Amino acid sequence: MRKTNSLSPLGLAVIILLIFAILYVGVTALQENREYQKEAAITPTPSITPRTVRITEDPTKPTSTPTPCILQVNSIGLEVKTLQKRLKELGFYAGEVDGQFGQGTKAAVTAFQTQHGVDADGIAGEETLAILYSDKAQTFVPTPTPSPTPSLLSTGSSGEEVKTLQRRLKELGFYTGEIDGDFGKGTASAVKLFQQQHNLSADGMAGQKTLALLYSDNAKQIVITPTPQTIQVMAGALPLLVNRDNPVEKDFVPADLVDMSTYCDTAVVKIKYSGTQGVREAVDALMEMLSDAKAQGVTKWQVSAAYRSYSAQESIFESNVREYMKSRGLSRTQAESATLLTVALPGTSEHHTGLAFDITVPGTSMFVGTTQQKWLHEHCWDYGFIIRYTDEKQDITGFMGEEWHIRYVGTEHSLNMKNSGLCLEEYLQYVKQ
Ligand SMILES: [Zn+2]
Repeated sequence: MRKTNSLSPLGLAVIILLIFAILYVGVTALQENREYQKEAAITPTPSITPRTVRITEDPTKPTSTPTPCILQVNSIGLEVKTLQKRLKELGFYAGEVDGQFGQGTKAAVTAFQTQHGVDADGIAGEETLAILYSDKAQTFVPTPTPSPTPSLLSTGSSGEEVKTLQRRLKELGFYTGEIDGDFGKGTASAVKLFQQQHNLSADGMAGQKTLALLYSDNAKQIVITPTPQTIQVMAGALPLLVNRDNPVEKDFVPADLVDMSTYCDTAVVKIKYSGTQGVREAVDALMEMLSDAKAQGVTKWQVSAAYRSYSAQESIFESNVREYMKSRGLSRTQAESATLLTVALPGTSEHHTGLAFDITVPGTSMFVGTTQQKWLHEHCWDYGFIIRYTDEKQDITGFMGEEWHIRYVGTEHSLNMKNSGLCLEEYLQYVKQ
């Protein structure tokens, strides 16, 4: 049988240990309580003017801010409530008046500070609070919502937006330059032209209105009417106009004719008929042009017609009429009408001027669609030549398109005509005004 009333030495030791443990816990608790009481004594009682102190609902969990008159994110209490109420009153705060300083309260404080010229840190410190509760506090003035940034493109602008602009202007025929993304003079005048034709104020700057219209379905193709922007002409030296309404006299002979078959470098151009003449200035320009073409790898050029005298035109015209009468059995009047479609009446041919040349490729009757023709149509303008007759302008010139027939007018005019798209008749009518 086991003794139940007596303690073993081990049991005694355990009891002693337990007593010590209980005593320790008790003393520690007492100490902590004293600490708490000390702290509670420091924390002031809420006063009627709560702004001078900070009050937290749980005195054992003080916020990290020791200064009592700073309210910031995570501050809690009556003071925060008062702050929110005041901010709400002034229109800066739209949230709950809950005494909890969260991001909404911070944003309101920041907005208030911004409007009142205080360092906008979202912390309600002394300065902010002083203004907030004074009669200097203003009600919230909302800053206007920024409209989508109007991309204004003007001289000096560059980049992708400018490229897009140039591409669109080119598509509509207003721009003829490079798509290089640089807003220069050419782009500015294209914008201006577009604005003029679309009844926008023509300042040459692509602002919101212009851009909106440009990229809309209401954007129209260019209408080629002469405008002062595309044509600048020096008075005095207008190109000679020879057409049905403006024939030359029977004895007209241009000054300074040269024999092209001896004058021209045959390594550059073949002169089909010996004795073919042209006006020196025009022939020089022609040779410069064809030499450049050769340097660029476009060779095999031929001049199959240049200056033609009145009598030479007379015989060409006459032989054509006879050919029509003979081969098609036409009357003289009918044959003359048929001939007039392709051969100028004596006195009305541009070849009388000595400034017109028919350019072909030696050894072939083909010219339209050749490399030479494409090069000529692209570059002739730069040398003072124009493509005198095009199908588009047949109603005005009286001639069907002649891709091979170029006319020297000088670069001042050729470039103007290229840019404006006007034929010689239209151009002269414009510049004479
Ligand atoms: Zn011709």
